[in-house]
Amino acid sequence: MQVLTVEGPRTRAFDVLESRCCAPGGALPTFRMVHPCLSCGACCAYFRVAFHWSEADASLSGVVPPALTETLDPHRLVMRGTQASRPRCTALQGTVGDAAHCGIYERRPSVCREVEPSWEFGRPSAQCDKARLGHGLSLLTPDDWAVAATAA
Ligand code: SF4
Ligand code: SF4
Repeated sequence: MQVLTVEGPRTRAFDVLESRCCAPGGALPTFRMVHPCLSCGACCAYFRVAFHWSEADASLSGVVPPALTETLDPHRLVMRGTQASRPRCTALQGTVGDAAHCGIYERRPSVCREVEPSWEFGRPSAQCDKARLGHGLSLLTPDDWAVAATAA
């Protein structure tokens, strides 16, 4: 089993990213890009997601829902479902490789916030690549971040 301790899945907040830019004649078309993580979710169903127990302790400003965690050792919790032989975080909604998102996005653990989708920030991500390959998905490329224009 792969262990996710320092980095984790992230960036499932934006089902649509929108920006506006000037066009000849002064028109302001809207460009949309569907975030690649929303048709993936592989890293949420590949790694053991472990983090310090304080992240689920509200008295210490922890935000992870305790009911969705279980104890790993005296210092760490894991997201339920991620210790299984075929891990799948209990908070993951949808179908991996089709349409998936984090059901506790605003309350997800720090490790989940730290995973970079490959090429979102101009570099590959070993964890993203490993998870996608593990689910039979092609690796993300820089082209996946190209803005796809749609009609406003
Ligand atoms: S494996 Fe990569 S593309 Fe898929 S959800 Fe995780 S970070 Fe996003
Ligand atoms: S908490 Fe959310 S982002 Fe983290 S592994 Fe579970 S579904 Fe994925």
